Amino acid sequence: MDTQDPDLFPEGPHPRHRRRSSAALTPRRPGFIVPAVVAAAIFATVFVSITPDIFSLRIADQFRSLISAQEGVLVVNPAISNNLKIGIVAGHMGLDSGAVCDDGTTEADVNFAIATLVQKKLAERGYPSDLLKEKDEKLQGYKAALLLSIHNDSCVFVNDEATGFKVARAIGAVDQNISSRLLGCMKARYQETTGLPWHNSVTRDMTEYHAFEEIDPSTPAAIIETGFLNLDYEILTKNTDKVAQGVANGILCYLENENVEPTPTQVSE
Ligand SMILES: [Zn+2]
Repeated sequence: MDTQDPDLFPEGPHPRHRRRSSAALTPRRPGFIVPAVVAAAIFATVFVSITPDIFSLRIADQFRSLISAQEGVLVVNPAISNNLKIGIVAGHMGLDSGAVCDDGTTEADVNFAIATLVQKKLAERGYPSDLLKEKDEKLQGYKAALLLSIHNDSCVFVNDEATGFKVARAIGAVDQNISSRLLGCMKARYQETTGLPWHNSVTRDMTEYHAFEEIDPSTPAAIIETGFLNLDYEILTKNTDKVAQGVANGILCYLENENVEPTPTQVSE
């Protein structure tokens, strides 16, 4: 099931409910004797009918254990257990300015300010990180606990709805449950910390972000647009620390296996 997008997994009934239904198939009188042929037929029927149940139960349990840090389930992410560092891309750094606002503020400057603050906050919690350029040569085969690229959206006024953030994760060889949890952590913690709304306009530029193809496939990765440089200008440029805290909280949520709900990625053009 590795190739299946976990975002598309139906949530399914609660596992306990499943277990109760399976238990209901057990004969009530253990001493009850049935002829061998009938027993075999019953067994075959029961086996066929409960196999998908058991299968989906296992998937659900597996998925739940990756999503939830509660109930004493430890998520084993090989990248984390190897104490690898974190990669932070300051969007457009070393390449171009990105969006340029009327007052001269550039997206690249805002991305860099956020990225360096995120790096500082992670260091304070004991997590080493690399600050990477947009087309950094280190990205080729880059191995890390995770890679996050920080960008921002247009300086131009689009409409009253053009406010908020968006996140897309890499869909590579890495376990999709892991990358889905990274996405869930980024969305939940960034929103909680900054109060900015989710903006449902993830584009292919994000889902097919160049670094996703360059890094080692074992590295979970995501890209965040932390806000719009028009309507979110104040928080992005005057309260950058809060923005960076939101990003750092998302990363820490992922690294420290905090409980988070999975969230689907919407792709729109
Ligand atoms: Zn950008």
